[in-house]
Amino acid sequence: MHPLAAHVVELFSSIQGEGLLAGEPQLFLRFYGCNLACNYCDTEAARTPTGPCRVEIIPGSGEFSERPNPLSVEELIALIRTEPEPARRYHSLALTGGEPLLHHRFLAAFLPAVREILPVFLETNGTLAAEVAALLPQLNWISMDVKLESATGKPTDWDGHRRFLRAAHEKLLCVKAAVGPALQDAEFSRLVDLMAETDAGLALILQPVHGTWEMPGWRERLFSLQGEARGRLRTVRILPQIHKLLKML
Ligand code: SF4
Repeated sequence: MHPLAAHVVELFSSIQGEGLLAGEPQLFLRFYGCNLACNYCDTEAARTPTGPCRVEIIPGSGEFSERPNPLSVEELIALIRTEPEPARRYHSLALTGGEPLLHHRFLAAFLPAVREILPVFLETNGTLAAEVAALLPQLNWISMDVKLESATGKPTDWDGHRRFLRAAHEKLLCVKAAVGPALQDAEFSRLVDLMAETDAGLALILQPVHGTWEMPGWRERLFSLQGEARGRLRTVRILPQIHKLLKML
């Protein structure tokens, strides 16, 4: 791939479904590729750089045209400029994936130009500290996932998450963790410790794995976890992925 071109899965409009900006309208730019392989991943296409880029024709319509990949900085900026009144319509541009920070060289050229159109919100798996540090001045908000082994089926990269928290701390809007009934007390305590040692003011979002809240005893457990974390962190919220509840993109 040319260093200033990126493989993009899709460009579309929706509401933010997770975290502290839940419900805000955003323009989503989804990049191909991820450095992790979580068992619950719902963006399988984001892992493999194949196929054209899908571009939503009318915001919110779910109807797409296609552009050949990879896209240059200029091509992507031109596509975003065709959006009608982006600054009025959208809260921000959401960079998602996959893992957008895998495209850090592309983003270093793309972000200064796109920030003339919309502020930028980064969704990340929170493992690429050096990459986020270099881009920090060009990011408005960051939502970082902590990938717990009980949810992903893969060992948690605690050191990577710690380095990321330290590097991205000043732009962090919230830290999200997908939690399910297999959650262990020890890993939850470790998550809260990790955040509290960085900044007790950081917001933690507990995101129940979709559909698990009907399981016996799980709602009580979630409430208990929230209470435990509130002893160490000022803001702890339980929020589902609302775009899935609303069947939106
Ligand atoms: S980090 Fe996100 S995109 Fe990557 S495998 Fe995990 S859920 Fe999928």
